Amino acid sequence: MMRIDAPKHLPSVDRLVNAQAVQGLVQDHGAPLVTRSAQGILEQARQSVLAGGTTDMAALVRALRDDIERVLRPSLRPVYNLTGTVLHTNLGRAPLPQSAIQAMVEVARGASNVEFDLDAGKRGDRHRHAEALLCQLTGAESALVVNNNAAAVLLTLNTLARRKEVPVSRGELIEIGGAFRMPDIMARAGCKLVEVGTTNRTHRTDFEASIGPRTALLMKVHTSNFEIKGFTKEVSEQDLARIAHAHDLPLVTDLGSGTLIDLEPYDLPHETTVTEALHAGADLVTFSGDKLLGGPQAGIIAGRRDLIDKLKRNPMTRAMRPDKVTLAALQAVLRLYTNPARLVHELPALRLLARDPAEIEHLTSRLVTPVQARCQAFDVAVAQTFSQVGSGALPVDRLQSAALKITRPDLRRPGGTLNRLAKTFRDLPVPVIGRISEDALWFDLRCLEDEEGFVQNLKDLTLP
Ligand SMILES: *Cc1c(COP(=O)(O)O)cnc(C)c1O
Repeated sequence: MMRIDAPKHLPSVDRLVNAQAVQGLVQDHGAPLVTRSAQGILEQARQSVLAGGTTDMAALVRALRDDIERVLRPSLRPVYNLTGTVLHTNLGRAPLPQSAIQAMVEVARGASNVEFDLDAGKRGDRHRHAEALLCQLTGAESALVVNNNAAAVLLTLNTLARRKEVPVSRGELIEIGGAFRMPDIMARAGCKLVEVGTTNRTHRTDFEASIGPRTALLMKVHTSNFEIKGFTKEVSEQDLARIAHAHDLPLVTDLGSGTLIDLEPYDLPHETTVTEALHAGADLVTFSGDKLLGGPQAGIIAGRRDLIDKLKRNPMTRAMRPDKVTLAALQAVLRLYTNPARLVHELPALRLLARDPAEIEHLTSRLVTPVQARCQAFDVAVAQTFSQVGSGALPVDRLQSAALKITRPDLRRPGGTLNRLAKTFRDLPVPVIGRISEDALWFDLRCLEDEEGFVQNLKDLTLP
């Protein structure tokens, strides 16, 4: 093979694209993509040769192949979530059950009756697909599904409180990350926030004093990602409902995570269920589909039929409507809730949250050797840790878990080395995401169920 050590000896774009070894790429990916890539590769080669480097035809073809592979690789890919945060918003929140995946595939493949009434043979209502099950599982009169809970809150406020006032406790004016701030959502919904009480203490009398002729509704926001401790007072949902109803106003509760079942039998801390919120007197409850519910991204509004009907008539609903794939998945997930005895086996989010710490520890012990074999310079050990639910649910309570703890005890400041190691794990065919703290790289194995795939994946680990 001829060494190329001057720009004039580089092939032209045409010659590279027409080279015998490149014809497979042209056939698979088309000439336009290969040509564009070849232009970039040749420019890089020109720079490198000018800087005193050399190349040859085989190296150019390899670079071309790598470049095309990089361009075509999907940017949205599965990863191993070993961060210890089960419902990790940045990592896609709840993993879906097999039955939901199946349902999504079936409606994605072709036509479906998403908005078609098969009995009447004419246009139907897409919202009915999840509604019956939601009503059965929560006791609500009616329910509506939108794209996410932020949309559910926005739609509710815009429909029921536009150009009117909404009193909210100062202790509940929360930010949930990802730029969801209750005061901003209120403003965008066109309603006027009336701050009630103080950050740590809000009394019934504060709410009563806040109600005037322009008040549209009372609102309770589940403070999902923090807890106020110490000298505190909040108005209970029952009291708030009583005050609202005495003034003929609806009570809207934003539960955030909202679960449909009592989590205590699974050794998880209690989280207000949708049914409880409705029983306490909420007229509408809003919650996410992909937090504790364990389903697809969605926002669910459940409660009084007359209010839900108003929401459905808001033109904004059209801009927030869920697609058929989401509805198929949500319906499949809700169906699992009809049989609570099997739920913990079939719903991955609950299965992971309720996973036995001893089982996680056994798994961790089994993986020390294969991981250690790939990270010779590091120390790999089993360590106790605590997982989090994530997505703002149950913020304070932590779940006992086990992790692979990777350290470099010989280094006084291992930070940079650990960061590079973490990057190497993220560069694997299926990226492995952990977290760095206390001078260690931690892989919490609570969310690892595919042990064999994980070990296979490690074969590609190349340490710098
Ligand atoms: C998470 C959360 C939201 C936003 O829900 P998304 O489904 O992420 O849009 C709104 N309110 C509360 C209280 C939350 O916890």
